[in-house]
Amino acid sequence: MHNTPNQKKPELLVPAGNFEKLETAIHFGADAVYLGGEDFSLRARAGNFSIAEMEAAVRFAHGENVKVYVAVNIFAHNEDVRKLPDYLMQLKEIGPDALIASDPGMVRMIRRHLPEMPIHLSTQANTTNWESCQFWQEQGVERVGLARELSLDEIREICGKAELELECFVHGAMCISYSGRCWMSRFMAGRDANRGDCAQSCRWEYFLTESKREGEYFPIEGDEKGVYLFNSKDLCLLEALPHLIQAGVNSFKIEGRMKTTYYVGVVTNVYRAAIDRYWESPHNFTLPPEWREELESVSHRGYTDAFIHGEPKDDRLLHTFSPYRNYDFLGIVQHPADSSFAKVKVKNRFQVGDSVEIVSIGPTVRQVKIENMRDEEGNPLNEAKPNTQVLIPINGVPMEKHSLVRKKIEKIF
Ligand code: SF4
Repeated sequence: MHNTPNQKKPELLVPAGNFEKLETAIHFGADAVYLGGEDFSLRARAGNFSIAEMEAAVRFAHGENVKVYVAVNIFAHNEDVRKLPDYLMQLKEIGPDALIASDPGMVRMIRRHLPEMPIHLSTQANTTNWESCQFWQEQGVERVGLARELSLDEIREICGKAELELECFVHGAMCISYSGRCWMSRFMAGRDANRGDCAQSCRWEYFLTESKREGEYFPIEGDEKGVYLFNSKDLCLLEALPHLIQAGVNSFKIEGRMKTTYYVGVVTNVYRAAIDRYWESPHNFTLPPEWREELESVSHRGYTDAFIHGEPKDDRLLHTFSPYRNYDFLGIVQHPADSSFAKVKVKNRFQVGDSVEIVSIGPTVRQVKIENMRDEEGNPLNEAKPNTQVLIPINGVPMEKHSLVRKKIEKIF
């Protein structure tokens, strides 16, 4: 494998659902992050950024030489169209590096109100061929986020023929419908996926009922956990990454503005390492099995490479059970308190005697036994409780700020 002459190193684009996730994404190697405001973004429940928070986020990211793209990718109704110009003016002041849109009307309005602002077309627009890329380029779009439902051969051909930047999802949740173009959640829960409020009805457990037997639910058993008719496995294209770089994809995007800080840190860490290793030495590239194992440590529904090798077979895409993980996320290192203790922001309970792991850039994983613990005032503690900060002994293990603290769990959820 090789890189083509004059090819620029591709970008790693990471979700930032809040400020903590933004800092984590940047620490673990994001080149760019994407986030949403309180309106117009396709993740209504992602803990989106207020205008003031977005301003702080852009300032912080730019200080770290990281780009920020703001999602305005709902399918707009008339009411949204009326409100958009004011919002665009606020975004202009904040100065993100691009806006992500999918609705043609929104693209047109951004072009009209912010002629200098780069527009990235969201994957939600389902672009599956180079003619569509050409069309969007003529509308003033600078980058197209390709549909997830494309094979490597199709992506290669689009990269060869399209003349604008191309972005590809490489990791995260998949819809059973065409990337979010789905009415299921609206019908079943009154929550509109196309306006950022999907209830993920495709992932619910379903039973069979007979119309005259109210309250009687007959199980349909796909496996011992029941049946999840429409529940797609999650996308993981780590193995395909070298081929996608070779094809000429400009940006690799990780899905998950609603996922945890742990997910953001671990997934960014692995894809950062893979892109860097391939870029430095394409001919000798190998993927260490530990990197793939790291991806198993985050909550997921099993992995699929989906459409990358053509039409997915049944076991590549469907009928999987609910999310599982093999680690508990315990906390985030704030900073070493002194040479013997590090301060940790606690996410989940842990106690003296626990053996934990510290995940750092690399990915590097180191084991630490919690032999004692203190509160912020230095008083001894037996147990660390969520939403507190505690001091844990360093024991010679490097613990840089933003390192993730986790504990292996025997029972897999
Ligand atoms: S219900 Fe499922 S398939 Fe439909 S938009 Fe939501 S996540 Fe996607």
